[in-house]
Amino acid sequence: MAQLTPMMKQYLDIHNKVKDAILFFRLGDFYEMFFDDALTASRELEITLTGRDCGLDEKAPMCGVPYHAAENYIARLIEKGYKVAICEQVEDPKQTKGIVKREIARIISPGTISDGKMLKNKNNNYLMSIYYNMTGFGLAIVDVSTGEFYTSQVVACKDPKEKLLDEIAKYNPSEIIINTVLFKEKWLIDNIEKRFHCYSNILPNKYFNLERCQEILEDQFKVYSMTSLGLQDDELSIKASGALITYLNETQMRVLTHIDKIKKYLVDDYMAIDISTRRNLELTENMRTSERKGSLLDVLDHTQTSMGGRKMKSWINQPLVDVDQINGRLGAIEAILENMSIQISLGENLKKIYDLERLISKISFGNCNGRDFLSLKYSLDIIPKVKGILLKCNSDYIEKLNNDLDPISEVVQLIEKSIHPETPVSVKDGNLIRDGYNDEVDYYRNITVSGKDLIINLEIQEREKTGIKSLKIKYNKIFGYYIDVTKSNLHSVPNHYIRKQTLANSERYYTDELKDIESKILNAEDKIINLEYEIFQSIRKEVLNYVQRIKQTAENISVIDVLYSFAIVSYKNNYIKPIINSGDEIIISEGRHPVVENMLSEQEFVPNSCELNCVDATMLVITGPNMAGKSTFIRQVAIITLMAQIGCYVPAQEAILGVVDRIFTRVGASDDLALGHSTFMVEMSEVSNILKNATSKSLIILDEIGRGTSTFDGLSIAWSVVEYLHNKEILGAKALFATHYHELTQLENILSGVKNYCIKVQESEEGVIFLRKIIPGSADQSYGIEVAKLAGLPDQVVKRAREILSKLENNEEIVEGYLPKTNLENEINLFNYSDKLIIEELKKLPIDDMTPMEVMNYIYELKKRL
Ligand code: ADP
Repeated sequence: MAQLTPMMKQYLDIHNKVKDAILFFRLGDFYEMFFDDALTASRELEITLTGRDCGLDEKAPMCGVPYHAAENYIARLIEKGYKVAICEQVEDPKQTKGIVKREIARIISPGTISDGKMLKNKNNNYLMSIYYNMTGFGLAIVDVSTGEFYTSQVVACKDPKEKLLDEIAKYNPSEIIINTVLFKEKWLIDNIEKRFHCYSNILPNKYFNLERCQEILEDQFKVYSMTSLGLQDDELSIKASGALITYLNETQMRVLTHIDKIKKYLVDDYMAIDISTRRNLELTENMRTSERKGSLLDVLDHTQTSMGGRKMKSWINQPLVDVDQINGRLGAIEAILENMSIQISLGENLKKIYDLERLISKISFGNCNGRDFLSLKYSLDIIPKVKGILLKCNSDYIEKLNNDLDPISEVVQLIEKSIHPETPVSVKDGNLIRDGYNDEVDYYRNITVSGKDLIINLEIQEREKTGIKSLKIKYNKIFGYYIDVTKSNLHSVPNHYIRKQTLANSERYYTDELKDIESKILNAEDKIINLEYEIFQSIRKEVLNYVQRIKQTAENISVIDVLYSFAIVSYKNNYIKPIINSGDEIIISEGRHPVVENMLSEQEFVPNSCELNCVDATMLVITGPNMAGKSTFIRQVAIITLMAQIGCYVPAQEAILGVVDRIFTRVGASDDLALGHSTFMVEMSEVSNILKNATSKSLIILDEIGRGTSTFDGLSIAWSVVEYLHNKEILGAKALFATHYHELTQLENILSGVKNYCIKVQESEEGVIFLRKIIPGSADQSYGIEVAKLAGLPDQVVKRAREILSKLENNEEIVEGYLPKTNLENEINLFNYSDKLIIEELKKLPIDDMTPMEVMNYIYELKKRL
């Protein structure tokens, strides 16, 4: 250490405070990184690694990025899961002797990004704080980029681990802070890292100290006691929230005025959805691609604003359980749908509203520019129009939202009169403030304008005096103003011209008069830039007085946007208003799967009904061959129920739905495999979770359970599970059970609440056709071999499979299959032959004379023949 240069000492001292971050150390126009940080950054950012003398024998590894391009590099490091600390020079190097003072200005981590470019418009970026102990857990969740702050706690709960994981899945945070106790809780750390892939910080207990947390919260939310926040009895919530604010203060190093409200919620206020159910039902992401396309969100989202897009996602992630609240939303959609002109004008106006939440957070952060203020003004200008449209809607819920929609004319007027209508992106280049707003700005602006006029006049005057027609007065940043005379005219240059610079073809001069005008202009420009920046900051502070009102308006606009979007999608896709009650029935007539339907044409999707009631059918056992449409049907029932509970219309002809407290699914493979469990183990632990946590109000979707083990084991497990779920004393939940175990259909005769359904299949000479229609009764054949044939298994194999099946059914001995080589070759030739036919047909296809629909149908037919 003693050998190190003073700057390197300073570097290491500062880095010691942020050991887990990559330090961007400001050196002039660059941010430099040294030692290990340099190795990491040069590798991750693909920038050149160099070295710098640091006082030691060997040079310190070093790499750097220009300060004006730093944003991009920081974003890339954050995306790769690093934390970045920005260290700035806090003194003017010109005014300092020796080493410039430097300090950390901000620490950026995945959960604390506030910069628009690093964020997705329609996604929240959540940072979650968890305080976990023997009694339960407290949660606090913040989105720094919008100012939302939520808290909740769970105590005396049967299965706190599951509940906690459900909540993490609901918010899908990009970063988590947790208390050290959890270090021993390997399951949670494992989940955070491997399942949720988020950045985690294990913080020492002092962050979660109750008294300290209370003080911090009182300070941030400007209250005198926890009672004002409604948290007087919520110790775990206080600890999680207090630690979160402390962490923000330490990393952001500024007051975050826009985080001004804490929203407390109860986990049970919403439908519980576990991680695998979220995934299985593809609520916000497609299961295979992890993309939005192919998800329920993708179908429903017609929101016009980014705020609405985020709200839509959060509604889908937390469906309601309160009948009145759900009906409030449904009534609002009905009111919007009543009048086509409402839909059109609402959409047109919402589209013009900028992201108010992120604008106000930028303004609060201090990284806003003049254009952000103009965007704020344009958006607020639209509010009176939206209010006018909403007045025409006959809905109590909309009326309430409208009452709290605030056009905040004070802010509109302030921006209107103060901000320059053509303000540039930078706040350090002037032209921020409008003419007439501030006398001093006007005064200096006049000088620069009139000074420039003086220059023009001087140029004309000098041309006349010297007779040099090509004489010009020019300006550049280094030399300022100068008189430019070409070489051929040098003999006419008067004596009082003072030479400034010689170029190949011309000489540059100045005169005392030019110098005077120049210093006037430059002084005024300097002054005006600083002055405008100061005034801009004072306008910023003034606008911050309205944070709460702007945020409330933003919130209401986001809700109106979601309701608008539900109305539009309901209109477009023919959804209907469900009847919601607190009963136990799920009656859906002619229901459709919204996502599958969207991928097919409307005529192609076969609607299906479902009747689950508490009297004679609490459980449907659905048998049918693979590919018949069982999974689609059972998921469709779950999704329709969920859609209704987020307050959306549903794809059906009629639906009467008793609110469910929870949807469970056990379908397909799960990402638990990433945690190193076998498929069967995962399946069984999911079933166990269902049996432990379901209530008589839950809806359970089970697809092919018991598949991962021997037939008898699987069948016995499935049978026993059905009995357990059906038994009212134990559970009596509503369940849909898709299975290929035909034996389970016997349960209809044994258990009163079980009803058998199967999928209609048409057999023909060419094979089977799935009609996708669910009908009462049980499938008498599995058609597995038929499906294998449809999937393109060679005929020889299909034929042999039929033989084996018939032998198995008749308890006959199976001798080794004989597949003569020549036959197999024939078979392959046959396939080639049919392919050739198809190619010939395709060549002749009169595409130009066909409608797109005809082409699609034709290709569909062709595909069947492959
Ligand atoms: P299973 O679970 O019986 O194996 P799936 O539900 O996975 O069958 O359905 C197989 C395919 O059939 C789906 O990919 C879908 O394209 C189509 N399908 C399912 N249900 C319907 C329906 N009601 N109408 C039209 N096509 C359907």
